[in-house]
Amino acid sequence: MKVIGITGGIGSGKTTTCEIFQELGVPVYYADLRARELMTSNAELKSKIIQSFGSQAYDGGRLNRPYLAQQVFNSEEKLSVLNGLVHPAVANDFENWLEEQKEEKYVLKEAAILFESGAYQDVDITVLVIAPESLRLERVMERDGSSKEDVLKRMKNQWTQERKVKLADHIITNDGTQLLIPQVLELHHRFSDK
Ligand code: ATP
Repeated sequence: MKVIGITGGIGSGKTTTCEIFQELGVPVYYADLRARELMTSNAELKSKIIQSFGSQAYDGGRLNRPYLAQQVFNSEEKLSVLNGLVHPAVANDFENWLEEQKEEKYVLKEAAILFESGAYQDVDITVLVIAPESLRLERVMERDGSSKEDVLKRMKNQWTQERKVKLADHIITNDGTQLLIPQVLELHHRFSDK
C-alpha cells in the first residue's frame, strides 16, 4: 500500500480535491482536523497541553483555540512546545488508522504543511494542489468570512508555491479554468496501478 501526501497552500482546494478522491472510495486522513480532535479527545495529550499552557487552554472541556493561538503566535519556542506535544499523538493516531487500511492500494494523508514540516519525507508520493494567490485569497475570504489581512498573514507562515512545486511529485492545478475531476481521475488510475 502506498501513502500519498497531499498538500497545498491555504485556499488552494486540497480538501475539495480530497473529497473527490473520497468519492472514488479512497480513504483520506485529514491530519490537521485530526490534530484538533485529538487535542480534546486524547486525555494524555490534553493533560500535557494544560501542563505547558495552563488550564485556560480549555474552556469547559473544549479547546480554547483563540487563547492557544495567541500563546504561540509570537513565540517560536511555545509553538515548538505545542508541536512537540501534538505531533507524536497525531503520528500514533495515523499509524493506528493505517493499520485499518491494509487492504487498500493507496491512501491519502492531507496536511497543510506537509513540506514545511518535513513530513513529506515519510510518505511515498506527494501531490501539491496549486492555484493563483489572488484566487486563494478570494476563496478563503468567502469561505471563512476572514479579512484580507488575516488571510495574507496566514499565507505568510507557509512556503511559497514555487518552493513546494520543486519538491512535489504531482501537481493538481485548481485555478478555476482546469477541471479538477479529470486530474484526480488520472492520478487515481496511476496510484491504483502501482
Ligand atoms: P485550507 O488550507 O484553508 O483548509 P484548502 O486548500 O483545503 O484550504 P478548500 O477548503 O478545499 O481549500 O477550498 C477553499 C474554498 O474554495 C472552499 O470554499 C471551496 O469550496 C472553494 N473551492 C475550491 N476549489 C474550487 C473550485 N475548483 N471551484 C469552486 N470553488 C472551489
